[in-house]
This record gives sequence, C-alpha cells and structure tokens, in this order.
Amino acid sequence: MDSLKEATQDFFGVLGDQQRNLLENHLKQRMVQRQGECVLQVVLDVTHACLLSCRGCGVAAKGATLKRKTQRNPELSTDRLVWILGEIRDAAHAWGYSRVSLHLGGGEPFLRKDMPELIRTSADLFGSESISVDTNGCTVSTDELAEIMQHVQVVGISLDGLEEYHNWWRQPPKGMNAFRKATGLLSDAAQLPFGPEKLEVSLVPTKKNIAEIPGLMELVYRLGVRKFSVHRAMPVGRFLDQLDLLPDAKDYLIILTAMLNVNERLGMAIHIHHSIESIYSSLLLGLDSFAPTVIRNPERFSSLGIDPIGRVYFDPWCMARPLSRFDIGSLEDGKTRLTQLLEQTEKWHRRFIPESRCFGCQIRCSGGSRIGAALALLEHQLGRSAMARGNFTIELLLDAMSAVDPVCPLYKAQSKTVPTNHTQH
Ligand code: SF4
Ligand code: SF4
Repeated sequence: MDSLKEATQDFFGVLGDQQRNLLENHLKQRMVQRQGECVLQVVLDVTHACLLSCRGCGVAAKGATLKRKTQRNPELSTDRLVWILGEIRDAAHAWGYSRVSLHLGGGEPFLRKDMPELIRTSADLFGSESISVDTNGCTVSTDELAEIMQHVQVVGISLDGLEEYHNWWRQPPKGMNAFRKATGLLSDAAQLPFGPEKLEVSLVPTKKNIAEIPGLMELVYRLGVRKFSVHRAMPVGRFLDQLDLLPDAKDYLIILTAMLNVNERLGMAIHIHHSIESIYSSLLLGLDSFAPTVIRNPERFSSLGIDPIGRVYFDPWCMARPLSRFDIGSLEDGKTRLTQLLEQTEKWHRRFIPESRCFGCQIRCSGGSRIGAALALLEHQLGRSAMARGNFTIELLLDAMSAVDPVCPLYKAQSKTVPTNHTQH
C-alpha cells in the first residue's frame, strides 16, 4: 500500500493546494450524485448514419445527407425500436434493477424522422429524468429541441474546440460550417424554457484540443449553456486511425484541473468521463467506487450497448471495430428476449471481474474502463495494427479486461503484463 500512496502522491503532487482542494471537492460532489440505486444503463444507438465524418468517431458513422431524413432507413423500423424499448424495461425488471437510464445515441439520432416519437415512448416507459440524447447540432431545429426537451433530462450537443479545430475534426460536408451551426443552435436553444437546465455541451478530448477547453467553456457559458462535460477518447471506430492523439493519464488530469479552474468563475455543472472521476475518487478520497450501488456497478452488467441493427453488447464501446463482432445476440428478429441475452452478459462479466476490479491494485475502485484497459494491453501485446484489425478472440479480450486502465495514475509500462492466473473462471 505504501507504493500505492507514493504513486498517487507522485501523480497528484503536481497540483497546488488550491487545485487539489478544487479537485477533491468536485469528486466528493460527483460521487454523492452517483451513489444510490442499482441502475441499468443502456446506450441505444438508433442509427450509425451521420452528416459529419469526425476523424475520431467512436462508431465510424458516415454516409448521410439531409435528404436521408426519412423513416425509410436501412436500420431498425420504428416498431422494432419501440419493441426493443419494452424489452429493456422487462429485462431491467427481471434482473432486479430499480431504474433504467437510457442514452439515445448514434450516429446522428435526429436524422431519423421518428426521433420525437422514440423519445416520447422512452420517457413514458422510463421517466423523462432517465433519458438523455446526443446530437451534433447540425440537423435538429430549435423548435424540435423545444418539444424534445420536455421529455428528456439532458440533450448533449457536441463541440470539440473552437471554430477551426471543430471544423477540422468534424469534417462537415462542403459548404457547411459545423461549428457555426452547433453554436447557433445552442444560442437559440439556451433561451428555451428548459435550455439552461437541460442543454449540455460535450467534448471529445485529443492531444490537439486540450488547450482550447477553457476558452470553449467561456464561449458556451456566454451562449447561455450551464452544463459542460468532457467525454473519453477510446481506441475504437475511427479513433483507431488517430491513436497518437489519444490523451493519456496526465492529459486527463490537466483537462480536469483546467476545467475546475475556469469554472470557479463560471459555476457551471461540469464533469469528465466517469471512468476517470471514479478512479480519482478511490485514490484521492479513499471512496469505494466498486460498490454495488455506484452507477455502472461493475459486479453486474450495468452498461449495455444496443446498435442500430439490434445487436446487443456487454459494453457500449463494443459497437464499432475492433469489437463489433463480440455481440451477445440480436433483437432484430423481434423474438429473441433481451432478458435471456443478459445471461450471457453476466457470464462474461463474471469471467473478468476478480476480487478487485483490475490487477493493478487491491483498493475498492471501479477500475475505470475495462474496455480501455483491454485495448491498451492488446495493443501492447499484439501490436497496434493487429489490435486495430481485431485479431484476437473473445477469450483474449476477457483476459485483458483485468489490466490497468491507461487513464489510471498507476498505469505504467510494466503494468502491461497480465498475470496468467488472474482470471476467475
Ligand atoms: S457527429 Fe457524432 S456520430 Fe457523427 S461522425 Fe461525428 S462523432 Fe460520429
Ligand atoms: S484502475 Fe486498477 S490500478 Fe488503478 S486505482 Fe483502480 S483498481 Fe487500482
């Protein structure tokens, strides 16, 4: 435990007293928010089509034009998606979850004409306080948002930096300024009755946009937005072509402390991806982020992914390459029950969860992202191109899920070796 304390001190020792206080207070507040019920988290991607072609898109979305805004899309029909929503409700009930938290994502969800209907149905089933939806802000109108915001808790609008960076990263179609579209929408939507309460700007960090984050926070605050979050960049989808831009553990600490500094003046509701905040909470505050009641309870399947053709995944990050072939089954036929598919999920989860979440240390810690940990290890063991091509089996993936997450302060080169006997079969 002494070496654990030393490593923690080394990592967080770069912070001055004031920064450390800000960080600790932020983590305490976030962990309190996240304690409580046993929640089944589901990411339901309703399409993988998008107008934009972001360089690091986690699902490698592409191929849409505005003309595709039609219900005749090649993915699941409205009826099938409504049926899947019912399956999620039934499965949560059967497996003893007290609540479902549903994230409707994509691709660009609002390319589907039936999005308002899907959102209303979701809110009827799970309660509007349990629904969030993402958009790139280039398709949906302010009027549509006004209607939608009555039925959701959060509308996430993506901005990845200031104008030049955002447009470079997002690769909009010729003639479209994606940054101006999204900021124009934010400016209008922030004036709506639920705007300040429900709009959230979220950013995917890379090594190139870290310095722009404080300026972007100032800008969106001036537009009237009061929520800001930083997502996690993961080596999946098109980010596999940008691996040199993946932020590392130190980068995330710089990002979060910079956000906290600027937020001293702004007073927004801010956070960084839960995989990072939970590790920091365990290391810095000694809090148990492995507890069964923490959201994304690691001891059970707690964050499912369902892709636009109905395939179900034990982790939403698996919906794109190199992991998309590891689905646990499909709901596409309208007959397979989600409750049964979850039995497979549970078996897999039991395979990769030893006493503590990863072999890096014994503290009660969420372990961050097990997929992030596994892909970093597989890259190290197999080489970058074999990892990116998905040249590994499900067995190897499950074994690698006990590695140390590269965003953990304890991650270092020698921790990339997986002990051969660590898995609990
Ligand atoms: S806007 Fe979102 S879904 Fe579309 S390409 Fe970018 S990251 Fe992917
Ligand atoms: S991610 Fe693993 S090594 Fe890091 S603090 Fe959590 S349990 Fe320990």
